[in-house]
Amino acid sequence: MLNQLTIAELTAKLARREVSAREATQACLDQIARVDGKIHAFISHDATDALAQADAADRAMASGATHAQQPLLGVPIAVKDVLAVKNQPLNCGSKILGQFISPYDATAVEKMKAAGAIVFGRLNMDEFAMGSSTENSAFGLTRNPWDLTRIPGGSSGGSAAAVAADEAIATLGTDTGGSIRQPAALCGCVGLKPTYGRVSRYGLVAFASSLDQIGPFTKDVQDCATMLNVIGGHDLRDSTSVAQPVPDYTTGLTGNIKGLRLGLPKEYMIGGLDPEVKAAVDAAVKQLQSLGARVEEISLPHTEYAAATYYIIAPAEASANLARFDGIRYGARVDGADPLELYSRTRGAGFGPEVKRRIILGTYVLSSGYHDAYYVRAQKVRTLIRQDFLKAFERVDAIVTPTTPTAAFKIGEKSGDPLQMYLSDVFTISCNLAGICGVSLPCGFTKSPKLPIGLQLLGKPFGEETMLQLAHAYEQSTNWHQEKPAIPN
Ligand code: GLN
Repeated sequence: MLNQLTIAELTAKLARREVSAREATQACLDQIARVDGKIHAFISHDATDALAQADAADRAMASGATHAQQPLLGVPIAVKDVLAVKNQPLNCGSKILGQFISPYDATAVEKMKAAGAIVFGRLNMDEFAMGSSTENSAFGLTRNPWDLTRIPGGSSGGSAAAVAADEAIATLGTDTGGSIRQPAALCGCVGLKPTYGRVSRYGLVAFASSLDQIGPFTKDVQDCATMLNVIGGHDLRDSTSVAQPVPDYTTGLTGNIKGLRLGLPKEYMIGGLDPEVKAAVDAAVKQLQSLGARVEEISLPHTEYAAATYYIIAPAEASANLARFDGIRYGARVDGADPLELYSRTRGAGFGPEVKRRIILGTYVLSSGYHDAYYVRAQKVRTLIRQDFLKAFERVDAIVTPTTPTAAFKIGEKSGDPLQMYLSDVFTISCNLAGICGVSLPCGFTKSPKLPIGLQLLGKPFGEETMLQLAHAYEQSTNWHQEKPAIPN
């Protein structure tokens, strides 16, 4: 079935004129019609617009456009509801934006369109990307394609579930503390968080601006490299994007990783680590070793402070960023007798409980009496966490860890306990604080029920090439990425 293909497989067929972009798009739309009633990866999608884009791609190919010039030509790709796509709804999984329609494209979206992609659909997410389970969406929950009683991870749960269920060929998500890697792990796909500054954040609705990055969800590592080739690069509209050339990330995918050095942080073997996850990661490390990687133990001594640091810095930035949703400028409004009442009524009705919790936390840690004790202190610890990584990277080329402490948990299991939910991100958070890159890829399954397990590789700042080289070599020596969930009819 065409919707099950990777980008590489689909573009090869399109280039040989064996299939059309319309057929590929229709296959994704049919799959959505078949399974999305159960999974709910999409908040909405416009089939007519998707097919019109597909027809345009088919016409372009008929008049000579090639995949060498446009690597995503005719490939249907869906995006998380936090990225602006011109003339499409933009809700960030929240009620507060009402009927808002984006007036412009995010840079990552613009680049995908220029590369020929069919950009369609709004993927479900935790409200304003705050969460780890997609249970905090104002549009209802998304279910894990491997087990419909479980969460898909979050906050980019829709992006992960759509790829796992073959409802799109690839998707885009965002990662502030793990929101790409964690759902990729729990849904059994590949998810990449680029180095801070690798991908422009223009047109991404900000959660925590110093941590947010856009990245791809794909069915294999090669597709992930192809996507990064397209979306990476400097952008004058995002001053934190870095003017560093974008290499061709696919050229390093040779399978040869002889002599590359991998660090195994001793701090990551924590108490809450599920034995089946640990066994799968241990086996993956052995496999990497047998492929020629040299593995050594390293230490990241400030790891234990990462979650506490993140849950000060991220809410602080969120409280400032979300001040713009005031009922005046965008979307929904609840009127009041004066502006202050209008603001508070609009925000009271528009934001869900987790977003309110973060705004209150963030406002508190920034308030004059507590700013130094919490916010400034957290910034200092953040520097120590980054230094831990930079020191480790003097000795190793990449770091290997589990992506998550457990496989996908049950719907409702952690939603009543924010601290338990926050702790599900222990392995992913420090990567964002340090500004380095990370990728999650499948490395096994739990026995009963059968649920995907993710392996995380962390790379140096702008070290995506080597990180993807290692990920690809491991992936190609296993079959995990080829397994598909059996979604009941
Ligand atoms: N789960 C983390 C949070 O709730 C990370 C979210 C993200 O990366 N967007 O903040």
